Amino acid sequence: MINQYLKQTRELYGDNLYLESDSYLNKDTPSDTHTSNDYQSNLNAFNKQINECQSCSLGATRTNFVFGVGDPNASLVLVGEAPGEQEDLKGEPFVGRAGKLLDKILSAINRSRQKDVYICNVLKCRPPNNRDPLPIEVKECEPYLLHQINLIKPKLIVALGRVAGMTLLNVDNSLKSMRGQIHDYNGTQLIVTYHPAALLRNSNWKPEAWKDFKWIRSIID
Ligand code: URA
Repeated sequence: MINQYLKQTRELYGDNLYLESDSYLNKDTPSDTHTSNDYQSNLNAFNKQINECQSCSLGATRTNFVFGVGDPNASLVLVGEAPGEQEDLKGEPFVGRAGKLLDKILSAINRSRQKDVYICNVLKCRPPNNRDPLPIEVKECEPYLLHQINLIKPKLIVALGRVAGMTLLNVDNSLKSMRGQIHDYNGTQLIVTYHPAALLRNSNWKPEAWKDFKWIRSIID
């Protein structure tokens, strides 16, 4: 039985086997503690329903629950990994330096966080010291993202950065290998591109990111 499991794992993920404790692959399916039938059917009501969530330990350390912001009928949903310090303080995603760059990128494709775009994160609460999300946190929080996407029904989801891409696609891959293709996220097209914070750290990546956003615009226009 173990042999069969290992063979199957190798077929799916190649020769690298990942340990349970640090893998994005062991989040299972979205938590069975909540089902979307229990959720409110508009975004504001849904936010009110879940914003006191204590399903994982981040509930105890957050300042604010960061639900998401933007156009409820957006054709484009941008998904980051988790709120950072500024976002936790303000209760809004991407409001720090990376967020300012994201706003500029959106304006270059004739959009904004109020116009045809919705912005949120996989996790709604800030992990201490901005560490990567843990599988258990993703397992508890991803059903919220799924419900947001089901309500918005965007044409395209863009995962910002490697961690958001890996988490949504349930793989452990490089950004390079996830970029440049259209993936599927529960029936919605998904593209992975650079996290704006990465573009602030390395401006050599900006031309490639710009190529991605022109492609993104061509899909949603
Ligand atoms: N980084 C993210 O992934 N999300 C935010 O909201 C802010 C920074």
